[in-house]
Amino acid sequence: MVADGNTPAPPERLWRNPEPKRNYDVVIVGAGGHGLATAYYLARNHGITDIAVVERGWLAGGNMARNTTIIRSNYLLDASAALYDHALRLWEELHEELDYEFHLSQRGVLNLAHTEQEVRDARRRAFANELNGVDAEWLTPDEISEICPILDTSNPRYPVLGATYQRRAGIAKHDLVAWGLARKCDEMGVDFIQNREVTGFVTDGDRVIGVRTDSGDIGAGRVGLAAAGRTTLLTDTLGVRLPLQSHPLQAMATEILEPVHPCVVMSNHVHVYTSQAHKGELVLGAGIDTHNGYAQRGSVHVIENQLAAAVELFPVFARAHLLRTWAGTVDVTPDASPIIGPTPYENLFVNCGWGTGGFKATPGAGWVFAHTIATGKPHPLNEPYGMERFTSGALIDEHGAAAVAH
Ligand SMILES: Cc1cc2nc3c(=O)[nH]c(=O)nc-3n(C[C@H](O)[C@H](O)[C@H](O)COP(=O)(O)OP(=O)(O)OC[C@H]3O[C@@H](n4cnc5c(N)ncnc54)[C@H](O)[C@@H]3O)c2cc1C
Repeated sequence: MVADGNTPAPPERLWRNPEPKRNYDVVIVGAGGHGLATAYYLARNHGITDIAVVERGWLAGGNMARNTTIIRSNYLLDASAALYDHALRLWEELHEELDYEFHLSQRGVLNLAHTEQEVRDARRRAFANELNGVDAEWLTPDEISEICPILDTSNPRYPVLGATYQRRAGIAKHDLVAWGLARKCDEMGVDFIQNREVTGFVTDGDRVIGVRTDSGDIGAGRVGLAAAGRTTLLTDTLGVRLPLQSHPLQAMATEILEPVHPCVVMSNHVHVYTSQAHKGELVLGAGIDTHNGYAQRGSVHVIENQLAAAVELFPVFARAHLLRTWAGTVDVTPDASPIIGPTPYENLFVNCGWGTGGFKATPGAGWVFAHTIATGKPHPLNEPYGMERFTSGALIDEHGAAAVAH
């Protein structure tokens, strides 16, 4: 379809841009994947549609459309396996539900082991996954080469001794996920209020009754915070201290190439992970920049180290040209697991701390956060993820599975 013979017609409108009402049953802060999925499941599972999602920038302009799109559920601990695998099962049906194609590609994820200790840890994780009903296999170097021929398993510095393989894992197009969720939410009556920053909360004693924004207050029966790296800027206004640190996290993409990379490869040891996007770019991810910051940019030395590590494992990458790099602001907890639950303030709930790995959880996080907001109580899947674990000591330490979490 063309508008004037030359210019393609603009796409069909996906969502409205309404003026906010004075009050909503639920206000969600942040139109990233988690805010969108929460709104979607509030409407779908709980019949709550009087919802505003308030976003300081543009819909999906945070980490949602900056991530490297890796989806997997092979975490070590029972609580994590249950939460992330619930998300993976939802991914498998979500595009049909939304009637919106976002190219979920279950091409498999290899997690490499380069030392004997890594082999032991990885095999332990694969066994734990199997016990939790999460698909996991242990592959020898020859089996790895069959799946990913461009990976150099005999590199003298970082020989590949084996890998765990999750076949159901893969990638999906993150921007399309956001648009599909937003379109469906809009159809169900959810208001998206973009370019409006939430600056604090309206309270009545220890009850939250609305949000303050840079253009006036909006009343709310309940407020769900899904603000990722900027969460503590808001919780600090109430004196609620969360154990979160915000860091830049970078990624990079090459020019568009023929399909050469058939799966996703992650190596905690050399600290690189790679895949090939649907369009053809090689997508490479790094670890966090170690400094704290809110800027959506990071340091050049991280990119240099990243590329050196990638070429070490994939010599063929040396011939590719880097086209762009970018960064998001991720919120990291001490145990590399998220915080999802109530707060000391009545009617205020948080979903944060997903660090470098929350894209994969998007539908699952939305599902349990919607339940928490709708009922005022955690869903059994997010019960272990409350903020009180940092005082009780019941941590969910996923540093092993999440060192390069993506
Ligand atoms: C480079 C990079 C690569 C990554 N790769 C992966 C990966 O491969 N797989 C994976 O699982 N995860 C990955 N992640 C992590 C993942 O992107 C995040 O964990 C996830 O997107 C968090 O979802 P969210 O909706 O909470 O965050 P966001 O998408 O960041 O949404 C938060 C939103 O809140 C808005 N906001 C913040 N403060 C306010 C305020 N005061 N008022 C109004 N709005 C506000 C922000 O503008 C933002 O849009 C990656 C992240 C980055 C940066």
